[in-house]
Amino acid sequence: MRKKIVAGNWKMNMTKTEALALIDELKPLVASDEVDVVFCVPAIDIIPAVEAVKGTNIEIGAENMYFEESGAYTGEISPNMLVDAGVKYVIIGHSERREYFAETDETVNKKVLKAFEHGITPIICCGESLTQREQGITIDWIRQQIKIAFLNVTADQAKKAVIAYEPIWAIGTGKTATSDQAEEVCGAIRECIKEIYDDATAEEIRIQYGGSVNAGNAAELFAKPDIDGGLVGGASLKPDFGKIVNYK
Ligand code: PEP
Repeated sequence: MRKKIVAGNWKMNMTKTEALALIDELKPLVASDEVDVVFCVPAIDIIPAVEAVKGTNIEIGAENMYFEESGAYTGEISPNMLVDAGVKYVIIGHSERREYFAETDETVNKKVLKAFEHGITPIICCGESLTQREQGITIDWIRQQIKIAFLNVTADQAKKAVIAYEPIWAIGTGKTATSDQAEEVCGAIRECIKEIYDDATAEEIRIQYGGSVNAGNAAELFAKPDIDGGLVGGASLKPDFGKIVNYK
């Protein structure tokens, strides 16, 4: 039985002061034994956030990470820096990073491999544009993203990965995929993992849905058999995040 995982993606929001206030507000609201709870926060907030969640059920994640160990990569954050700061998860290949920062399936794969090498769980994002959906190529597109993201990843590593299916047209738009649309793609992702690896890996890997998840739609989405929780943007910055975590 897979444990649900609900992760907030704070994006480029929250100064250190604001972050600490939000964590204080959300701490009691996201308490849960049934769901893994992750706050993926801006790099500058990671260290104070890790300190602030000590003794709670909240884990801190990063929103990005570079695939080299160290060196002349101005502005980047290395896997070791994240591990040393107490980070357990890292979002990789979010559509905003693909669109604005030229990330590709190949750089996603390098980052996924690096995250595993350092014991950080990657939350690997995939998703189609509205045009791709309208052209009927959603599943082909997602399968390609998944196959490249998992190149050279072992089955044991893949079992621990989290995949976030995030249709680009649903991110930050208030347009949520219907639970059937989300389930169709999450099911296809699980099938693809089964083809790459085996039944056991497909059974264990956790697949989130992301795209305008809120307190009103979380329960229906998370009830679907192949949806193991959510990656949540806007609503992760509000008390509503507590309702999403405790969606039942
Ligand atoms: C996201 O940032 O991954 C996301 C899904 O955003 P939102 O929930 O705001 O659509």
